[in-house]
Amino acid sequence: MKIICVARNYHLHIKELNHETPKEPTFFFKPDVSLLRNNEPFFIPEFSKNIHHEIELVYRICKVGKTISPRFAHRYYDAIALGVDFTARDLQEKCIKEGLPWEMAKAFDNAAAISTFIPKTEFENLNKIHFSLKINGNIVQQGVSSDMIFNIDEIIAHVSNFVTLKTGDLIYTGTPAGVGPVNIGDILEGFIEDKKMLHFKIR
Ligand code: MG
Repeated sequence: MKIICVARNYHLHIKELNHETPKEPTFFFKPDVSLLRNNEPFFIPEFSKNIHHEIELVYRICKVGKTISPRFAHRYYDAIALGVDFTARDLQEKCIKEGLPWEMAKAFDNAAAISTFIPKTEFENLNKIHFSLKINGNIVQQGVSSDMIFNIDEIIAHVSNFVTLKTGDLIYTGTPAGVGPVNIGDILEGFIEDKKMLHFKIR
């Protein structure tokens, strides 16, 4: 399985990091060993002094597809989860500055926290899914899927022009504004609408 992550998909987040708004979805990969499941703790790795949280909606691919048209893309995902795209911001800034790939800042072990999945049929309005992240009880990030620059159908269509999507692949769809560092001892709680999806500790 692949973990596909979309970067720069919410205007206010692009602004807070002083990045440019992309003309088409920008994506990168994380390996399967990045998954952090079952609310297990996230251990801050020694190679970074600035690990950021990025709360994101995650869509699960349910069938094989290539060059999928946007109008059929909805048939290719069946469930939605909440994830945290942990990012070594110090390493990422260095990579960007030097024009290098971001992998070491994004694709390390446990850098993709994931909740359980909600079948998409359980959502009243797939175009307006609210989600949020609390740290130590305070809301630090809030988003709604309608604020995505590229929606999930456009993302599926674009990515599938380059790589075949397979059952079980995950798509992290980008983070809204409010990213910031995590510290040892922090408690992270993530919500889709009012439902608590994530609850784990930084160690
Ligand atoms: Mg992200």
